[in-house]
Amino acid sequence: MRCTLACLLSAIVVPFVNAQDLGIGDATFPALGTKSFNATHYRLKLQYDPASHLLKSDVAMTATANTALSAINLDFKGFQISKITVDGIPATYSRKSSKLKVNLGKRISANHSFEVETFYSGKPTTEQSPALPTGMKSGWITFEGGVAAVCEPDLAHTWFPSNDHPLDKATFSFEIRVPANFVAIANGIRKPSADRVFRYELDKPSSTCMATVIVGRFSKLSQVGPNNLPIVSYLPSGQEPQFQDEVKKVPEYVKFLTKKLGPYPYSSFGVVVLPKSVAQVNTLMGSSALETTAIPVFGPDSVSSSTLVHELAHQWMGNCVSVRNWGDDIWWVEGFAQYSEWLLLEKDQGREAYNRQVKAVMDQVTSLPRWLKPGHLTAENLFSERSYIAGAIVFHALRQELGDEKFFQTLKGFIAKNRFGNASAKDWIETASSVSGQNMKPFFDTWLYSDTMPKIRP
Ligand SMILES: [Zn+2]
Repeated sequence: MRCTLACLLSAIVVPFVNAQDLGIGDATFPALGTKSFNATHYRLKLQYDPASHLLKSDVAMTATANTALSAINLDFKGFQISKITVDGIPATYSRKSSKLKVNLGKRISANHSFEVETFYSGKPTTEQSPALPTGMKSGWITFEGGVAAVCEPDLAHTWFPSNDHPLDKATFSFEIRVPANFVAIANGIRKPSADRVFRYELDKPSSTCMATVIVGRFSKLSQVGPNNLPIVSYLPSGQEPQFQDEVKKVPEYVKFLTKKLGPYPYSSFGVVVLPKSVAQVNTLMGSSALETTAIPVFGPDSVSSSTLVHELAHQWMGNCVSVRNWGDDIWWVEGFAQYSEWLLLEKDQGREAYNRQVKAVMDQVTSLPRWLKPGHLTAENLFSERSYIAGAIVFHALRQELGDEKFFQTLKGFIAKNRFGNASAKDWIETASSVSGQNMKPFFDTWLYSDTMPKIRP
């Protein structure tokens, strides 16, 4: 036998976390995640009481080791942990800040899989993400008679232990027990279950921050989309007439974006509209919406055709293809979702209306002293005009540069190539260059990273 350096190193039992466990390598959120394993599936068994807001959880994460491991670090905050097992055997653990260190009780070799099951309970809370304006809380948002988990970009670990970064996506299954007359909703397709238990399966990988659970009193609206896609939406009980006309248009939007971007990536779709009472709460969800995988959540004041298309567009851009790094990649995630609203305007009202929209935005942007370059953003300006407005302008400029045919070919090519993975500006440059036959690096360098106001090709 000939042993390589890697093999020698892997033979050493690592007493504590190794250096890689300091984070997954995203400068925007340096503490988040780990490179030491890949989570492949999360099985969440939850019991939630909307009256007391008490959550009892049993969450099993199946993962594959990327290196030899004797302990792992999960992202996890809050709650009382009663037990953790590794492959069914009780394990020891310790907690520090938002990290939960689990001693695996054995050495797990690279490429071998293992399951960590955490049993915990408590009252989940909302949190302040550095990426959201001060006072706008997100995470586990409670409202009169229910709850909705909305966690982008960095708060999934405030309700379940996870490798909390889009670089590590996984499939999900949910089993949620709620009191009589309550409905529990989660990502994926609903499966048969016992009374008061709601089961869902998401068979395609999702980022942890796009996993969700919503509990409340809702009525169901079932529709069918292109290729028999099941579209199941939920409207707040008693408030259905305020939202149903808008929500009934969802299958049209799926058809519209499928034409522009290629096949819809997941096995189901639908939206959840939260009840009016949530608007009174000072949280992310009063007038906002979040593109939680295959089942976006809408605050009651956010339901409109443009927001529906925006969150739907994220199913391709952001969810199916996700950021590699939050600060460097949010421009194409939010930029394209914003741009999809302009595409809808063009479809409904024609090219003139689209041109007027772009001109109005450009007039505002060009009155600023310098270009809102969106290529490298910090946590504080992740969700700002730089990602949304400047990001959308980059897509308009790209369309002017390439012409319609090559532009839409580039969008489809980028999604097909990076399906269920992660991508960055480099991948946009590669796809646009290969579709157009010209070197697109100077174009993206100018629009993403230069202070000078770039010129749009007429
Ligand atoms: Zn968005």
